[in-house]
Amino acid sequence: MVWFSYHGGHSGEFCAHAKSTLEEIVETAIERGFTHYGLSEHCPRYRVEDLYPGEEDCGIAGLAKAFDGYVKRAFALRDARAGEIELLIGFETETLPPEGWLDAMTALRQAHPFDYIVGSVHDICGRWVDFSPADTTALAADLGGPEALHLAYFDTVTTMVETLRPDIVAHLDLVRKFEPPRFGFSPRVLSVVERTLEAIRASGGILDVNCAAFRNGYGPVYPLPQILERARAMGIRVTLGDDSHGVKTVGVGLDRSLAAIASAGYDSVAYLTRTDGWREAPLDTLKPGRI
Ligand SMILES: [Zn+2]
Ligand SMILES: [Zn+2]
Repeated sequence: MVWFSYHGGHSGEFCAHAKSTLEEIVETAIERGFTHYGLSEHCPRYRVEDLYPGEEDCGIAGLAKAFDGYVKRAFALRDARAGEIELLIGFETETLPPEGWLDAMTALRQAHPFDYIVGSVHDICGRWVDFSPADTTALAADLGGPEALHLAYFDTVTTMVETLRPDIVAHLDLVRKFEPPRFGFSPRVLSVVERTLEAIRASGGILDVNCAAFRNGYGPVYPLPQILERARAMGIRVTLGDDSHGVKTVGVGLDRSLAAIASAGYDSVAYLTRTDGWREAPLDTLKPGRI
């Protein structure tokens, strides 16, 4: 019996918009029955204009220092708690700075013996797609409307997947975060999503079925059923991500991710181990933890 998540473990110790210490998060993951838990702190940013809102006091140098601190603490916890939980250590990428992000992410990936990386796109040309409805609406207007925003976003994800080849592709349709509950992508956007899925399949990437959208009141888990069903038909594997940002969210909502995976027709979920790489857990062998 296994229970796992690979996108999350953000902590207030190393991330300004998260809460709790990393050790508290690991402690909570153990208490909640996880057998494998991935830590994927946000990568640092390299330009002042790419700081997340709230990071102004920390600054570029502060972010680099915090990330180094995260790496040290994460690997130390992995060894210290090895008898209780298998921790996998990674980080969540950005397509920032808009020029040079691939070199920056590749260098960071090679700088430490990470178990995996989570490939994410949160911006279009340096402007956030997921920070606030007002910012996203303004960005869509500047690009020519919501459909243009969706097309630009999925094109960026496709490029990220083809070039960076992340182990896990995060919250694939994050761009619809602020759309109304019954939202669905247009046929034109879906044809571009098809290319994104082709890229994920070709790179061997695994889809993060991420419950943060549901937990935070932004519709179903990422990605929407119309995308998840297509991913299954194409043979793309999926894993679980709680996108936790503090002890309160460790594992919370993963039942929704599992339900979406089952509804899309999957009969197993992929999980990463340190010794054997990716393995498949049939749905009936998963042991959802105690929340
Ligand atoms: Zn975050
Ligand atoms: Zn993210």
